Amino acid sequence: MPPRTSTHSRPRIVIVGGNFAGLTAARHLDRRHAVTVIDRSPSFEWLPNIHELLSGVKRPADLRLPLRRLVTRAGHRFVRAEVTGIDVRAGCLGTADGREFEFDACIVAVGGVNDTFGVKGAERHAMPFKSVDDCAAIGRRLTSLVRQSGEQSVVIVGGGLEGVEALGEILRRRGACESLHVCVVESGPRLLSGAPPALDAAVRAHSAACRVRFCTGSPVTAVTRTQVRLSSGERLRSDLTIWTGGVTASPLLRESGLAGKSDRWAPVTSALQSKKFENLFVIGDAAALPRALPKQAYFAMQMGECAAGNARRLLAGRELRAFRPAPKPMLVTFGDLDTFLVRGRSVIASPALAVVKEAVFQATMAQIDPPLDPSALRELKARLRGTARNLALPALASLLRW
Ligand SMILES: Cc1cc2nc3c(=O)[nH]c(=O)nc-3n(C[C@H](O)[C@H](O)[C@H](O)COP(=O)(O)OP(=O)(O)OC[C@H]3O[C@@H](n4cnc5c(N)ncnc54)[C@H](O)[C@@H]3O)c2cc1C
Repeated sequence: MPPRTSTHSRPRIVIVGGNFAGLTAARHLDRRHAVTVIDRSPSFEWLPNIHELLSGVKRPADLRLPLRRLVTRAGHRFVRAEVTGIDVRAGCLGTADGREFEFDACIVAVGGVNDTFGVKGAERHAMPFKSVDDCAAIGRRLTSLVRQSGEQSVVIVGGGLEGVEALGEILRRRGACESLHVCVVESGPRLLSGAPPALDAAVRAHSAACRVRFCTGSPVTAVTRTQVRLSSGERLRSDLTIWTGGVTASPLLRESGLAGKSDRWAPVTSALQSKKFENLFVIGDAAALPRALPKQAYFAMQMGECAAGNARRLLAGRELRAFRPAPKPMLVTFGDLDTFLVRGRSVIASPALAVVKEAVFQATMAQIDPPLDPSALRELKARLRGTARNLALPALASLLRW
């Protein structure tokens, strides 16, 4: 459907979702457009480091920034609400609290939702691993487990990036967690299936001295309050089940007609424009590009910048530009035991690389929220103090011991 001609002095752009992709889009639009960012969460959340909440080296406040401040500073309006439906033909969307917002162009950046693949009991008994709140809750449960007497069992479902990083953080607490047994269950034949096999071997080698078991090639069939059941018939005892198993599309995409019955994610053109509606762009994890990309924060940010430019061009009747992804190496931390830098099929491993991941975190947070007012400056100082206390000083101490 072609874009409607706006009768407003400033064309209206509504952005649904204000995390990596949506916030970046907002920051690349200026006041020539009336931009509204709608998110159900009051905070921007730095998801790539949420595993560190399990060991306590990060606090929830380190990983959150107030969205209203960020959006207002970019010159736009922030609305905290859950979007429940988008009527693209009518140029209007609705929220759970009954409000309606009209738009000339819309950018959808809703990410994904936890996927338990219909495994019986997983929604109820396994703890999800998708947000700051989720991981803070897992951290609290771990603390209460290690305070209990006797042996305790933790099962991590999923041996991908999140599962391996979660294991690393549990092992970072190994002094305090000697009574913990950890089992990582992965349905595929090895850990970190998309990465070179050397990573699987390195993670197993680092875990050899700890009480860790790996069950690969073992899909989970059911989760109960005290057990994880495998397709082999084995029943693993579990006092805490962490579900890092998967991610799927938000139901909003299908309900609003952005994704068809056979699509998981919303199909877009190479210019990130919805294949179903001309005046709508889908970006970040929610988008199915003509050539699939890994669902990574830096691609989400790059898409946000591209979609902002294309929304401007669309409303000005100009030709859209294709999205050109710029891949970056992936940094996988394994607690304080190791960090892997993965680029294509090559891997560099060193605990010292944790400093690089931390520097990316600190620099990007400061770029998103420059310390221009007292509260932003206070929060920046607290993040830097946390890094010094929890990461830099222990690293220095271990170097001195060595
Ligand atoms: C544990 C973990 C570790 C990761 N590690 C890395 C890493 O090391 N490097 C890396 O590059 N990437 C990493 N990622 C992936 C990265 O976090 C995602 O690719 C990125 O968050 C995608 O950004 P997005 O803006 O598309 O979606 P999200 O960040 O998921 O944001 C979606 C936003 O939309 C809002 N929203 C959703 N539905 C609605 C609605 N109906 N109404 C209103 N608001 C809504 C949400 O509240 C949220 O703010 C990791 C992810 C996880 C979970």
